[in-house]
Parts: sequence; structure tokens; C-alpha cells
Amino acid sequence: MSELAGKHALVTGGGTGIGLAIARSLAAHGAIVTITGRRLEVLEAAARDAPAFTALQMDVCDPASITAATDAAVARNGPVRIMVANAGIAEGRMFMHQDRAFWDDVMRTNLTGAFLSIQAAMRSMLTTDWGRVIAISSIAGLRGLKGASAYTASKHGLIGMIRALSEEHMRDPVTFNAICPGYVDTDIVSRNADTIAGKMGLSADEARQTMIRANRHKRLILADEVAAGTVWLCLPGSDSVNGQTIEIAGGQV
Ligand code: NAP
Repeated sequence: MSELAGKHALVTGGGTGIGLAIARSLAAHGAIVTITGRRLEVLEAAARDAPAFTALQMDVCDPASITAATDAAVARNGPVRIMVANAGIAEGRMFMHQDRAFWDDVMRTNLTGAFLSIQAAMRSMLTTDWGRVIAISSIAGLRGLKGASAYTASKHGLIGMIRALSEEHMRDPVTFNAICPGYVDTDIVSRNADTIAGKMGLSADEARQTMIRANRHKRLILADEVAAGTVWLCLPGSDSVNGQTIEIAGGQV
């Protein structure tokens, strides 16, 4: 498959979970893929035996790191044509137990980090004749998630930013969309299961079952299923999908 041959894709948080599945799927369609994150060793392990991958350290909470990594990616692989803003943290805490530092940490990573990394990628993308910006939001970007108001607000904010960007760049050859997964089988869910178990006196498996039950088809979504929806937004025939939220949420509405 070579529909994306030669196109440079940058995936933040591309060394693990959903980001890695997206990076692999983009590469399978011919893209050259830069994967970024804070842990270089994780990225390098993911890039081993993957000739289409470039692994670069980038902390989306650090503007200088975003600029340096994006510049290095563009110098190596050319203008960014596909930007997947996937890096995120999914910390939960009841509203009255959140302090300012907790709130700021979630916003800095999930919302400000996406703003800064998308803006950096768009500097080269807007010099070209085709681009895609895809934000990995969440079903929590569309509805309230109990015990996770900061996460919910950050993911709603991401969708608002994507919708505004699609309006602002309607005449440019770039589309802006958000993917909204339900519970996906990745490290975030495993970590949350441990946290919920600790707080509610459940076993980790019982806590995991509460998340499985939240997906109406009663199983965790696969990262590859999220990747398939993301890559579809980059393939021929997707030009008129712009400013949308694509729910990959196992029937959650
Ligand atoms: P994950 O494996 O923990 O992925 C999160 C990625 O983000 C990691 O690769 C991590 O890499 C990176 N990251 C976190 N903070 C960062 C920072 N400050 N700078 C750069 N990279 C950072 O979990 P995942 O489930 O694949 O999550 C990916 C995205 O999907 C997140 O935005 C999450 O909110 C969203 N999502 C997940 C689910 C789910 O059920 N799993 C559902 C809806 C939405 P480093 O730690 O190396 O930096």
C-alpha cells in the first residue's frame, strides 16, 4: 500500500499505545513517520526494525523541545504533511480533590501541548499543497467523565481548537479532525485500572471490567481500530471530512 508514499507524518506520543499503532499504520501506507515522546529509549525501541521511522525526543510541555524536535524532523524528512497530536495523560481525580498543580499538569500536556506541537508542525505544512491535522481527543471530549473533570475539559478543549482551526483554514488544502476513542487497550487503561482499584477497594481486574462495561460492545477497543480511523482521514477520498469528531467508542453515545 503506497497511498501516502513519501509523505512525512509526525506522531506525538508515537512510541506507545495508540500513537504507535497509528505510526505503524501510516508507515504501512507508505508514509515516512517521525515518532516523538519524552522517553527516547522507548521511541528507539519502537523504531528498531522500522526503516520508515525517525525517533526524536519531544516534551510537549516544553516549547523549546517542541521547536527543536520539529525543526530536526523537518530537516530530516521534509515538511510535515500529517500531524497527529496524540500525546496525552489521563489522570483522574474528583473535582474537589484537584489542586491547581494537578489541573495545570493535565491542561499543559493535553491541550497546550497539542496547541504548541500542532502550530509548530503547521509552519512547514502550510508551505505545501496538502496536509492533515488529527487530534486524538476522547469520548470524554464529547461528554462528561465522572472523576476526570480536568481530563474532560482538556479533551473538550482539543475538539474546540480543531473546529476553530478548520474554520480558520477552510481555504487551505489542510483538514482538521478529532478522533474520539472510548476505552482502548493501552497502558493508560492499565494504569487507570490500578488507580481505580486502589481508590474503590477493587481488584485490578474488577476495575478493568468497569471500563470494559463502559464500552457498549463490552470489550476494550484495539489501538489498531483507532489507527484505522485515523489513517482513513489521510487516504484518498477524505478531502471533504473537515472539522469533525470521529467516535471510535464501541457504541458509547
Ligand atoms: P499511552 O500509551 O500512555 O500513550 C501516551 C503517550 O503520550 C506516550 O507515548 C507518552 O510518551 C506520551 N506523552 C505523555 N506526556 C507527554 C509529554 N509531556 N510530552 C510528550 N509526550 C508525552 O496511552 P494511549 O492510550 O496510547 O494514549 C494516547 C492518547 O489517546 C492520549 O492522548 C489519550 O488521552 C488518548 N485516549 C486514550 C484512550 C484509552 O482508553 N487508552 C481513550 C481515549 C483517548 P512519554 O511518556 O515517553 O512521553
